[in-house]
Amino acid sequence: MNVEDGIKYLQSKGGKVTPQRVAIMKSLGDRRDHPSAEKIFLELKPMFPTLSIATVYSTAQLLAQASMIRILSIYEKRVFFDPDTTPHEHFMCTRCKKIMDLRAGCKPKIRLKPEDEIYCIDDTEVFHYGLCSECGRS
Ligand SMILES: [Zn+2]
Ligand SMILES: [Zn+2]
Repeated sequence: MNVEDGIKYLQSKGGKVTPQRVAIMKSLGDRRDHPSAEKIFLELKPMFPTLSIATVYSTAQLLAQASMIRILSIYEKRVFFDPDTTPHEHFMCTRCKKIMDLRAGCKPKIRLKPEDEIYCIDDTEVFHYGLCSECGRS
């Protein structure tokens, strides 16, 4: 996710570009660890004592509407953000809740029958659940 684009988008929507929102965007940046709203909140809280988790959510929601990040609903109890919007699937370890990316190569093959009347697929969201190698060994 590009922070400059994020700022421009917020401005175009008439949203306030506060230092808190910029910090949230910077923190999402290009990270690959699929942070939860709580994680972003806890990371930024020391610098922005007035930050609320609602601000983290609302900023992320705006960015998701603009397809700048993805909001993953991989786990019912928590929301995770993914600044990588290129097509990929996700794996979550059910023990330690670690989320990993799955890319082409380990993709299950989906075959559509000719009579399935799909014109095109714009987006896919696939979640896999199991144990990561660390948890599987212990
Ligand atoms: Zn694990
Ligand atoms: Zn991802």
